[in-house]
Amino acid sequence: MTNFPFTKSELITNLINFSQNKLQNYASNRNFDYGSPHHNVSKISPYLRRRFISEEEILSIVLRYHKINEIEKFIEEIFWRTYWRGWLESHPWIYDQYKTYDKDECIPEKTGIKCFEHWKEELLDTGYLHNHSRMWFASIWIFTLGYSWQSGANFFKNNLLDFCPASNTLGWRWVAGLQTIGKPYLARADNIKFFTNKRFYPQNELKENFILNNQNLTNGKPKDFIKPDAKKLIKYENLGIILNNNDLSLHQLLKEKEIIFECCLLFKEHKNILINNFQKKICEDIKNNDHNIVSVNNFQDIYKWLKDKNIKNLILPYETVGNKVFYENEFLKNITNLEVRYTFYLREWDCNAFQHATKGFFNFKKKISTLLNQANIKK
Ligand SMILES: Cc1cc2nc3c(=O)[nH]c(=O)nc-3n(C[C@H](O)[C@H](O)[C@H](O)COP(=O)(O)OP(=O)(O)OC[C@H]3O[C@@H](n4cnc5c(N)ncnc54)[C@H](O)[C@@H]3O)c2cc1C
Repeated sequence: MTNFPFTKSELITNLINFSQNKLQNYASNRNFDYGSPHHNVSKISPYLRRRFISEEEILSIVLRYHKINEIEKFIEEIFWRTYWRGWLESHPWIYDQYKTYDKDECIPEKTGIKCFEHWKEELLDTGYLHNHSRMWFASIWIFTLGYSWQSGANFFKNNLLDFCPASNTLGWRWVAGLQTIGKPYLARADNIKFFTNKRFYPQNELKENFILNNQNLTNGKPKDFIKPDAKKLIKYENLGIILNNNDLSLHQLLKEKEIIFECCLLFKEHKNILINNFQKKICEDIKNNDHNIVSVNNFQDIYKWLKDKNIKNLILPYETVGNKVFYENEFLKNITNLEVRYTFYLREWDCNAFQHATKGFFNFKKKISTLLNQANIKK
């Protein structure tokens, strides 16, 4: 069972409750996994990942109740996702290498490790795992059970509601000691006991020591981030936009600027029933809130929509590494043949941040206050 709401209004109500009741203790409490429904963390990731809600919207809400310096840890976490996405933009070969790994190992049926079994079931039942449990789970998967990090990343990919190519791939690599090279994350029984509030204590069940022989590894020289030469969000003749899982609220930005446009929403079935249902329901909410949005299921539907609406200028959500839908595809050739001029729109939030995400998070973190000043956060 999932405990994630399907409407934006419920999501905002939850975020307000979280801001009023939990956020003041987030920094000291966030590392505890007390079990579902995880009231001590925001559970905003499945929505933010799809930009069903944006970073600016989240911060606009939480900053109604707190000053920036009171919730620095939460803001920093919001920027971790931005950082991972930006880092992967400058190291795309890391994702290409992972993608070539198609040996999708099955998860071991019974490991005898109670906490591991619990997290496996929780993930399969709810599509969510607390951050600390993701770290422990990944560590046990790699170091105690001896499976590859790629097969674990695939397991998360197929089951997480918030699956994000950057956060997931780099999260697994970080645990494996490949991201901060030579420093693996080793799950320890005492740490699990403390941060699960004594719900689990896998004493003598885990491999708590591991020497990595990959000190000579390197992640390669980062590519510079080149800001895309994108159209600004201004008025164009016969303008259309397409929403998809890369950005489900782009239309709101155009509305705020009183720009007239046609809009369609691409929904693709997901083989995981829980994820499919979640995506379907939040897409229904978007359409219920705006009856002008047309549903499309494939490229043929889009071509028809472009013709029917006589679209001549098209804005598509920017596609970061691991999120390609329209890019590198026959699609772009076909719409050019329909005399449609297209652009991939990178939100200002990403555009400002990605250039700083080429090295470690420590460096990136120094830019957070500048990035907050640049962001369009309504107070
Ligand atoms: C092995 C592994 C795999 C992961 N895979 C994913 C994934 O596929 N998709 C995904 O969204 N996150 C992933 N994460 C990051 C993190 O676990 C989740 O973002 C977080 O648990 C989401 O829960 P929340 O919204 O309640 O977080 P909160 O603690 O409430 O944090 C608020 C927001 O900050 C961001 N955030 C918090 N922690 C992290 C983090 N460590 N890395 C990046 N962003 C963070 C998320 O957007 C999150 O929604 C992974 C972490 C690990 C260790």
